[in-house]
Amino acid sequence: MNTNFENIIMNIPEIGNSMHKLMVELFPICRSITGNGVRKSLQILKNHILLDILEVPSGTKVFDWTVPHEWNINDAYVKNSKGEKIIDFKKSNLHVLNYSIPIHKKISLEELKLNLHSLPEHPDVIPYRTSYYKENWGFCISHNQLLQLENDEYEVFIDSTLQDGSLTYGEYLIRGKSEDEVLFSCYLCHPSMCNDNLSGVVLLTFLAKYLKNLSLNYSYRFLFVPETIGAITWLSRNEHNVIKIKHGLVATCVGDPGISSYKKSRQGNAEIDQTVIEVLKNSGADYKILDFYPTGSDERQFCSPGFNLPIGSLQRTFAPDFAEYHTSADNTDFVQGEYLADTFSKYLKVIFKLEENFGKFKPQNDKRIIKNFEKNDNDKVFLNLNPKCEPQLGKRNLYHAIGSQIPSQGGKKIVDQFTLLWVLNYSDGMHSLSDIAQLSGYDFVQIEKAANALVACNLLKEKNDHDRF
Ligand SMILES: [Zn+2]
Repeated sequence: MNTNFENIIMNIPEIGNSMHKLMVELFPICRSITGNGVRKSLQILKNHILLDILEVPSGTKVFDWTVPHEWNINDAYVKNSKGEKIIDFKKSNLHVLNYSIPIHKKISLEELKLNLHSLPEHPDVIPYRTSYYKENWGFCISHNQLLQLENDEYEVFIDSTLQDGSLTYGEYLIRGKSEDEVLFSCYLCHPSMCNDNLSGVVLLTFLAKYLKNLSLNYSYRFLFVPETIGAITWLSRNEHNVIKIKHGLVATCVGDPGISSYKKSRQGNAEIDQTVIEVLKNSGADYKILDFYPTGSDERQFCSPGFNLPIGSLQRTFAPDFAEYHTSADNTDFVQGEYLADTFSKYLKVIFKLEENFGKFKPQNDKRIIKNFEKNDNDKVFLNLNPKCEPQLGKRNLYHAIGSQIPSQGGKKIVDQFTLLWVLNYSDGMHSLSDIAQLSGYDFVQIEKAANALVACNLLKEKNDHDRF
């Protein structure tokens, strides 16, 4: 192995501790998909890498989406009639429904409860809830605390602003000998949580910090964006340049005690897929490999059918498979420097292999291989009419169009949104509804129902023989 890489590998335990230290520094900041929390976090990263901080004004159209109003918050609390703060944003920023509109009024327990979110299955922790695209306010508390609330008059106060501003993201490029790029992306929009969010941020910051001193074949681009809307914004502004991206990984959930897990790119057999799998096989430790699926993080956008980039996601325990996911328990104790260090070494080995095999890329067939399946008599092939990134399903009320609601706190989740995402992602003219049913594990009837709902919203049309994707 190249001596430069060896030098870094010798320092990995120390790098793990430094990553954890940076995570502790970033942890208290109240981040969201826009606002000063993201800016402050990016400024802290600037102490390590000189990244560019970019601002995209509210109202900017980015494919099917629009950059939302900017949200900022100073304070929030709920007081009982004795004037005691029983819920205090300053103690944990998870206490406020992220993107809450400002409010100040006195209400009954009954009304307060309509705006409280808790997790009965994990009664000790504060859940993380958001309402980005529907104006709302609320508080999140442990279920045990909720059960103890007494009949009283409560003062609710949220000192927030939601107005024209901008979406902020960070970008850092290390120029190699070639313009061909490796893209590493993470998201920086969650408030005080570590594995889901900050672990990826500190991993990529330190990878960039160490790679920038090496002589490299590829150029390496690092993105620190708000999840979903940030990746969509970046793709929309850089569409002309994505041709340069030869490999990539989305970094999230990289610091928990679980084994390494890899979610393949949509292409399934791209060089990045082969490389990561080889590194995991040679690691001597347990690992898990999953085929691509169109839920998860920003690989959903990078691997939307209109881009289909060779980007996978090398993680530890996939969200939401750890109990701490989206709660106050995903903290600086749950993520440890040794796990961050272990993931760091795997990313570094992937980079080393990519560098070693530079210029030997063999393109693969795009269609996923589907074994032992029978075509349904009603089988059809559709085309996604919005193939670049996901369309915004919420604004079309599509979640209500089909399926039954699974009640969940802090927003209505409909199980069949997953069938919509499967149909959208694989309606590339090459996969039929039977193929999609087979790949997703859903019944043909459910997939067909999703396709019909998408056709009704003009997001999908049946493929004709002369159509080209
Ligand atoms: Zn999350």
